[in-house]
Amino acid sequence: MWIGGEYCGAASGETFPSANPYTGEDWARFPRAGEADIDRAVRAAHAAFTGGDWPNWTASARGAALVRLGALIAGRAAHLAEIEVRDNGKLFAEMSNQASYMANWYTYYGGLADKVEGSVPPIDKPGVTNLVTYEPLGVCALITPWNSPLLLLAWKLAPALAAGNTVVIKPSEYTSASTLELMALVEEAGIPPGVVNVVTGFGAEAGMPLVTHPLVRKIAFTGGEAAGRAINEAAARDFKKVTLELGGKSPNIVFDDADLDAAVPGAISGIFAAAGQTCIAGSRLLLQDGIYDAFLDRLIEMTRAARMGDPMAADTNISPVATAAQHRKILDYIEIAKGEGATCILGGKAAQPGGSGGYFVEPTIFTDVRNDMRIAQEEVFGPVLSVLRFSDEEEAVAIANDVLYGLAAGVWTNDLSRALRMSRRLQAGTIWVNTYRSTSYTTPFGGYKLSGLGRENGSEAIKEYLQPKSVWLAEPRAVANPFIRR
Ligand code: NAD
Repeated sequence: MWIGGEYCGAASGETFPSANPYTGEDWARFPRAGEADIDRAVRAAHAAFTGGDWPNWTASARGAALVRLGALIAGRAAHLAEIEVRDNGKLFAEMSNQASYMANWYTYYGGLADKVEGSVPPIDKPGVTNLVTYEPLGVCALITPWNSPLLLLAWKLAPALAAGNTVVIKPSEYTSASTLELMALVEEAGIPPGVVNVVTGFGAEAGMPLVTHPLVRKIAFTGGEAAGRAINEAAARDFKKVTLELGGKSPNIVFDDADLDAAVPGAISGIFAAAGQTCIAGSRLLLQDGIYDAFLDRLIEMTRAARMGDPMAADTNISPVATAAQHRKILDYIEIAKGEGATCILGGKAAQPGGSGGYFVEPTIFTDVRNDMRIAQEEVFGPVLSVLRFSDEEEAVAIANDVLYGLAAGVWTNDLSRALRMSRRLQAGTIWVNTYRSTSYTTPFGGYKLSGLGRENGSEAIKEYLQPKSVWLAEPRAVANPFIRR
């Protein structure tokens, strides 16, 4: 782990393994943190927030350190990506792109650090000046999942540090290695010891004690709905701030007038990229009557041509899924869908390309899906697509919104008025028109309904790590009656 600027083990001396999803074999061991370790890490972060160098750093100095960290990450992107591939099995091509792109979060929030301006609101009382300033919250707990460990950490760490907080990070128990490796770069960027700490371990043993630690003032979490709910409830008890980025069951909606040369690869990137392990997966494909058959033919042809294999190889399109548990869950959902009466028109089985021993699932497509089936309502987090049919805009909107989630939605059309209407009517935090799966450091990301609380990314997100303070500066005046509020 990384506490107070030093690598260390758990107080108990216990460790746990992490498996390489391509081979199924353990490749690393991590300290198994318990309450005592969490307490030590939070106290290190609290000490760095209240004393030492960090509280005296100007916003510009914090920003400069973040920009340095961004440059270091860009320079080490391939190295960090290789570690992530070993941990979560996703394609090296995707993870190395992601690692280079991730540097932008540090540059962007580094630039923003000294542009958070307070205000001087006019006050309706004579002789008074009022100053509104923004202060950091204190120790923030950053809890991340396995699918994009460093990218989703950047969404939290960059604004948290730009705002002047200190942090304790708990990466997923399946993918702790890259976050620990990043700490060498945090140190090289000159960020003082104790400002950033990492604890490794499991949700109940390490995550929950971190959330409930009395010195933690905010929790930023990306992960599943069950953990999100537990964290939200625990945080509420002590009035802690939270941002929660949870799951989705996003509709990708193709109208008759869409450009199919764009929409077919758009549907594939929505569900088969990253073997479907993205919160924004376009796992419900809604096709309008007029293009239904032609679209499916092209979709099947293109999906059939996708190669499963070694995630490090440049010609692999479909990687294994990240964990043995996830592998089982996906195969269970395939059986559930069949049992519900959906028709499996492609895939539907585990695979073993080259006898690798890895956790592969064939890219799978279901038709004859009704929106009330579990396969249309529940997040699978794997390469499993449900296809639904609609005849007009009204029906598309009804199907799309009839789900507990609201993270993202895709619309494929060449009709601008329809694009605008659909963007207004779809209940989701991100709407993509004629594109899918884009995110950026400059624009807010987050969910409606059960997909989460609060937003990450974009300039406003820094306020999720700040609290306003109102300072009243009065000219001394004699007070006639102190028992009445002025
Ligand atoms: P998960 O919820 O099981 O775990 C996420 C993190 O939370 C891990 O670090 C885990 O150890 C920790 N955790 C688990 N239970 C906890 C608890 N009770 N208290 C504190 N911490 C706890 O999720 P996962 O399986 O790692 O990731 C997959 C899920 O994440 C999917 O449901 C997916 O939709 C979601 N996800 C969402 C986004 C988004 O931005 N909305 C992005 C990626 C993944």
